Amino acid sequence: MHIPFINLRLQYESIRTEIDEAIQSVFRDAQFIGGEPVKKFEEQFANLFGMPHCISTGNGTDSLFIILKALDIKTGDEVIAPAFGCMPSAEVISLAGANPVFCDVDPNFYTLDPEQLQKKITAKTKAVIAVHLYGQAAPLTEIKKICDERGIFLIEDCAQAHLTRDDEGRLAGTVGIAAAFSFYPTKNLGAYGDAGCILTPNADLAEKMRRLRNHGALVKDDHELEGMNSRMDTLQAALLSVKLKHLVAGNARRAVLAQQYATQLSNLPQVQLPQERSGSTHSYHIFCIVTEQRDELKNYLAEHGVETLIHYPLGLPFTPAYRHLLLAEKEFPVTHRLQHQVLSLPLYPELKREQVTCVAQLIRQYFS
Ligand SMILES: *Cc1c(COP(=O)(O)O)cnc(C)c1O
Repeated sequence: MHIPFINLRLQYESIRTEIDEAIQSVFRDAQFIGGEPVKKFEEQFANLFGMPHCISTGNGTDSLFIILKALDIKTGDEVIAPAFGCMPSAEVISLAGANPVFCDVDPNFYTLDPEQLQKKITAKTKAVIAVHLYGQAAPLTEIKKICDERGIFLIEDCAQAHLTRDDEGRLAGTVGIAAAFSFYPTKNLGAYGDAGCILTPNADLAEKMRRLRNHGALVKDDHELEGMNSRMDTLQAALLSVKLKHLVAGNARRAVLAQQYATQLSNLPQVQLPQERSGSTHSYHIFCIVTEQRDELKNYLAEHGVETLIHYPLGLPFTPAYRHLLLAEKEFPVTHRLQHQVLSLPLYPELKREQVTCVAQLIRQYFS
């Protein structure tokens, strides 16, 4: 038996005709940067969220970086990011010249802890990057209130949270000053290569971000400012328009399988299951369990043909890239514990119910 962590081949097979047609159409038109497919995808994505502006980009990391640049975040500024999460949500801060300030996460939901956040704010704090980790919405109401009171920008990292809703029923990506999305192939909405986008309610920011992603120009040679090259390929845009039609169904299937895991793994005292904030919806980009016997369980599952991953094996303050900040483990107790205890189980729309049962049975067997 082999249950891979993800199988993108199965996904392609399930929509092959539509994807192949979209590829043919882009090649027939022979326009590979910009053009109608990019405009169309931006409109479709913005409409799906009820947002006025969608700016497509080369990837999710660039989306975050472009947001920081558009907000004029620069040397001397501080930006707060979760200590538990992935590199892109933090590295863009230094890349913009500012200083990353890490904040510990909530032990139940693994998103920014608003109480800790309060303590991290200084006179230099310009923005907070709230990451909707694993597809669970960060507590946007509390975080936004703190940001508004202190005059700080709220930026949402929605790379794992396509169509996640927070506990007030709002779509993740519609609450902050701007939100970054990634369409990395394994994300809930994934391209066949790198791609990303930004949502914002603000027209001036939207125009600036359109310039930043294209050498400072909206049209050829109109360089009003310095920018970069981070455009979404025409081909990826055309493919994403096809895949967008399957996003709701894909998320629904993930939710069904997540519920099945939850049922079949219930009453196991050694395992903490993902929890959903009441009223919210989880997009289940990642189904993450927390257990003290993480490494042993991971090995046991591997021996039985089940591939699992660890998101993430080191809290950001403890990675070599941030060693120079000399951050103490005791400042981030939840992050420090989670890095040793989190385990991501296979979960994707093409996974079969029998496979979920099989993984769950192996886990119960391990703990019995
Ligand atoms: C994937 C991811 C990113 C980066 O997206 P890329 O498209 O790979 O650059 C940023 N933040 C989070 C939380 C992610 O999961």
